Amino acid sequence: MNKIAVLTSGGDAPGMNAAIRAVVRTARFYGMQVYGIERGWDGLIKGQITELQNRSVSDMVQRGGTFLKTARCPEFVTYEGQQKAAQTLEAFGIEGVVVIGGDGTFRGAKDLSDNFGIKCMGIPGTIDNDLAYTDYTLGFDTAVNTVLSAINNLRDTMQSHDRVSLVEVMGRHCGDIALYSAIAGGAEYILVPELPYDLDEIARSLVKSKLRGKTSNMIVLAEGAGNRDEIVKYLNEHAGVNIKITHLGHVQRGGSPTMADRILATRLAVKAVEMIKDETTVSSAMGIKGNKIIAVPFDEVFKAKRTFDEELYSAQNILRK
Ligand code: ATP
Repeated sequence: MNKIAVLTSGGDAPGMNAAIRAVVRTARFYGMQVYGIERGWDGLIKGQITELQNRSVSDMVQRGGTFLKTARCPEFVTYEGQQKAAQTLEAFGIEGVVVIGGDGTFRGAKDLSDNFGIKCMGIPGTIDNDLAYTDYTLGFDTAVNTVLSAINNLRDTMQSHDRVSLVEVMGRHCGDIALYSAIAGGAEYILVPELPYDLDEIARSLVKSKLRGKTSNMIVLAEGAGNRDEIVKYLNEHAGVNIKITHLGHVQRGGSPTMADRILATRLAVKAVEMIKDETTVSSAMGIKGNKIIAVPFDEVFKAKRTFDEELYSAQNILRK
């Protein structure tokens, strides 16, 4: 394979730039030409493609976001859209694509591979950590650390004012950002979509903790686990508290990637390029399992079932005092 391309698609995640950099430099190391596609599948359909050199990715490893930009592209879900994308690749003589994104991006990559014979390798880039086949996705560690820094700041003010706080974090249907940031930040309650929770029990526990002299408590709510306003209204009424809500929103998607995300980006990207150049391999998604970099064919990626770390979750019951 002489020419490959790289794109970022779906939601942006810290570490995407580090991954693009490693794709470009690994491809160049192996003597391949490498092209950057702007704005994901949409840019591929529209032919927004530029050749990248080693210098094109200088000063990138530490930057959040993605310099190739990212987009969602409804047209690419259709066969006609994918055909246009395949024609662009053919016009440039590009035989393989490294795609950095989430589940939707990988579904597109599988279609491009199955329907048009274009070899695609996926790098899981999403802060949500919602892909079952891999222990971690790129951007998750940075997002958790961003939440953690907000929790640390909130603790200072909560303790000064004897306050109960609820912090809503991202993750859509996945509670990992909430779980990891709550445990690492010493939060008292974690509400995630994967497990049921009992607001009456939380209300009773808040009352008890006030009686014991503990006046500040933190609840971390995953965005997919319920409506923050309704939860707070219920707890205020049933526990006699006045909970302050902090909704962190998109700040969780930005920021300079942590060491863990930069290293992960580099390892996944090197593997992706080595896989794409190896003629014996099939289109696959890269991942990490037990600190080993793995490559999983897309069919298996979509069949994998997510498991939630209930052992870690239950630690909060032991630690909450
Ligand atoms: P994130 O987890 O950050 O949302 P994602 O990659 O899952 O990332 P999506 O918006 O779901 O984000 O998908 C990105 C793009 O991939 C879509 O805009 C669309 O172009 C393409 N895509 C999504 N689903 C499919 C599908 N089933 N078949 C083909 N292409 C798809």
